[in-house]
Amino acid sequence: MKRVVVNILRIIVSLTFIFSGFVKAVDPLGTQYKLQDYAEALALQEMIPDWATLVASVSLAAVEFVLGILLLFAINRRLVTKLILVFMTAMTFVTLWIYIANPVSDCGCFGDAVVLTNGQTLLKNVLLLAAAALLALRPMVMPRFVSLSNQWIVRQYTILFIVGVSLYSLYYLPLFDFRPYHIGADIRKGMEIPEGAEMPQFETTFIMEKDGVRKEFSLEDYPDSTWTFIDSKTVTIKEGYVPPIHDFSIQRVEDGEDITDEVLDNDGYTFLLISPHLETADDSRFGNIEQLYEDAKDNGYAFYCLTASNEEGMQQWSEKTGAEYPFCNTDEITLKTIIRSNPGLVLLKKGVVIGKWSHNEEFPVLQKGKAPQMTEATSNVSYLKKLGGVFIYYILPLLLLVLADRLWAWSRWVKKEETRQSNKLFKLLKIKKTMRKKIVAGNWKMNKNLQEGVALAKELTEVVKNPNCDVIIGTPFIHLASVAEVIKGSCIQLSAENCADKASGAYTGEVSAEMVKSTGAEYVILGHSERREYYNETPEILKEKVELALANGLKVIFCIGESLEQREANKQNEVVKAELAGSVFHLSAEQWKNIVIAYEPIWAIGTGKTATADQAEEIHAYIRSCVAEVYGAQVADDTTILYGGSCKASNAPELFAKADIDGGLIGGASLKAADFKGIIDAWN
Ligand code: PEP
Repeated sequence: MKRVVVNILRIIVSLTFIFSGFVKAVDPLGTQYKLQDYAEALALQEMIPDWATLVASVSLAAVEFVLGILLLFAINRRLVTKLILVFMTAMTFVTLWIYIANPVSDCGCFGDAVVLTNGQTLLKNVLLLAAAALLALRPMVMPRFVSLSNQWIVRQYTILFIVGVSLYSLYYLPLFDFRPYHIGADIRKGMEIPEGAEMPQFETTFIMEKDGVRKEFSLEDYPDSTWTFIDSKTVTIKEGYVPPIHDFSIQRVEDGEDITDEVLDNDGYTFLLISPHLETADDSRFGNIEQLYEDAKDNGYAFYCLTASNEEGMQQWSEKTGAEYPFCNTDEITLKTIIRSNPGLVLLKKGVVIGKWSHNEEFPVLQKGKAPQMTEATSNVSYLKKLGGVFIYYILPLLLLVLADRLWAWSRWVKKEETRQSNKLFKLLKIKKTMRKKIVAGNWKMNKNLQEGVALAKELTEVVKNPNCDVIIGTPFIHLASVAEVIKGSCIQLSAENCADKASGAYTGEVSAEMVKSTGAEYVILGHSERREYYNETPEILKEKVELALANGLKVIFCIGESLEQREANKQNEVVKAELAGSVFHLSAEQWKNIVIAYEPIWAIGTGKTATADQAEEIHAYIRSCVAEVYGAQVADDTTILYGGSCKASNAPELFAKADIDGGLIGGASLKAADFKGIIDAWN
């Protein structure tokens, strides 16, 4: 919910800033005039030069627009929301002052595009301030539209665009003209007051003096002529309808005649050269102006220069430019409102503005008998067309950037997700693996006499503490009972290396599974390649042994593995599968729980040659799949499969790290406590 609210406010605040910045940027002179009004209200106008208010105007527009865009795209979220909060706090204080002191009638927040009363402006700013505070509190819940690495493009391009718009509008004319004198505007219509509209009411106070005493009078009690007029104040006591154009009048300097109606009613073309101040007007195109005046006269078009300058100013201008056209007086603010150029040219036809030219562009060249030629820039280009330009040059490139960036981010996400999934799978395998019993089992083979064996077992109980796996030692029959005594209470378990394929009876020299169990041993190693090879233990014999071992409560470490020739003939899979099928795959699932498989490639046993970790993992996975075929995936997952064959402390970690290798059956390296412990520690 919080996220939704913050993001809705983000859109509202950003769009307000973008709009506010843009409408100021399209009319920098308008904003400058407004800033000058503020300076005047504070009696600072003398101290602040024009260039400073102009720079402030362009900067203000740029700051608002850029902050709005950055907020919309959630770029530099923390900094931007803080700056917006600071900006709104300052603006709210300014508008509070405007609301109380009423120094200007319109704050100029939205240029001339939307005119608000001072009360409306204050309310708007208070709401925006609250929204800005919330955004500054929760900046990070705003999702980005563009990745971090591409944000500089949006930042730079936006600054370039908005400053470009300001400079264009300064050099030529406002890109969008929201004033009542825009191209296409009918000046007379702008002056109309609709029928029944409420009229504003004013009250004038006169300050008069008599015998050194000053007093205020109203119209009603205006004193006799013994009082001397000093000053007057007029205040609005009731707001009424004010038409968009309420102060347009033209007074010919030559004879003082008001020619407003004559100009507005003229069916032909009227050129108005507008210059609020001729003293500061740009005179670089004076030749062009003179030519236009001559051509206008030839074509029978009216031509006037409208200015608020006094006679001295007009004279100076005439001397400088050789101007012969008639001068007229019009209110300075009206002139500044009509066109943002000094001088600027306006073409009227029957009171409708049909063309405007800045002094920085070519004034039209008139051809006899032909209507004045309009260019794209000076004729009535629709707002829609101009907005189209903004879309093509600014919005579209940004949209394309966002699209490309999102595609890029998406492809990165897909890649990351793939890695995450495979990591997940890996973790899953690891979890499965950790759920299986991990074992390091020693196979002493026919090594160590009883005393040596007991001593080794004792040493092992001392060095192997809290291992991360089950530790088993497989000893000759003769050691079993003694070793069982030694390891009692330790973490080490005991295994025999063999048992008879007969339960009991006249089998001289044999040791039955039952006998093994009676020593305290829990495991028996069966199917070792040495027994298969040297004692001709066939799969059938091993099958008997396995059954007897299980029947007597022993767990079986069942060895399988291919010879070198078989490996070279790439028959390892066949071999191990056949060995399993021949001796253990007939067991029930319940019996299988007591089987541990030991894969021991014969070529690696006691030779110093180890199967690589990958080779071992490959065949372990295959063995597990064979188990799965017979007992199902779950049983296969739970089956411990050990690797055996020159396994040492140095290679055990790599081997044991493999998903399907659950420990080792160790021959040579199990005869020394330190070596054996090194392998056990591989599980750490
Ligand atoms: C073994 O005989 O079970 C065995 C793996 O031997 P080694 O570790 O010595 O290769």
